[in-house]
Amino acid sequence: MSDTASGGRRVEVHPDRYAVVDFDPSLTFECVDECTWCCHHGVLLYEQDLLELASRESISGVVEQFRGNDFVRKEEKNREEHVGEDGMACYFLRNDGLCALHAEHDWKPTRCSVFPLAVSVEDGEIHAGVRDSAHEHCEGLGVSERRVIDHLDAFLPELLWDLDDPESDVEL
Ligand code: SF4
Ligand code: SF4
Repeated sequence: MSDTASGGRRVEVHPDRYAVVDFDPSLTFECVDECTWCCHHGVLLYEQDLLELASRESISGVVEQFRGNDFVRKEEKNREEHVGEDGMACYFLRNDGLCALHAEHDWKPTRCSVFPLAVSVEDGEIHAGVRDSAHEHCEGLGVSERRVIDHLDAFLPELLWDLDDPESDVEL
């Protein structure tokens, strides 16, 4: 771990893969099971995610394209819980509020791992901040002793460093 000229902290997340932390290092996070807010949307799939998903599930009718990117589509759910205000949620969000991919395959798309963080690139370096929408909606910030900075490998999968554009501001 080292300090950058701008006051951020540069952390080795994976061997020889560094990210600059733009959030308070004391930030803690633990996902709250009943929340599911971040699963009420479509999820962008990087090419490697699409391949990984296709090796586990049929992707027919599951993946849609938007502005040249692949997304897990959101769909209308016939239930009152674990849906957004529009009654929609990610195709893989089950009735019990669990992610079918995580529960059945112990895997989820990169972008689902990154939330509640946001990835940006400055001067060729990956920066990790907290998404604006997470400050507003994520119930898991500050509810545990688990410091995000100590577990960055869980939030920032290594494939992010191999992408042409790892920034996380693309939404369905
Ligand atoms: S918004 Fe935060 S607490 Fe809610 S499901 Fe997503 S990561 Fe978990
Ligand atoms: S793939 Fe799973 S973790 Fe990701 S948004 Fe859908 S239900 Fe949530």
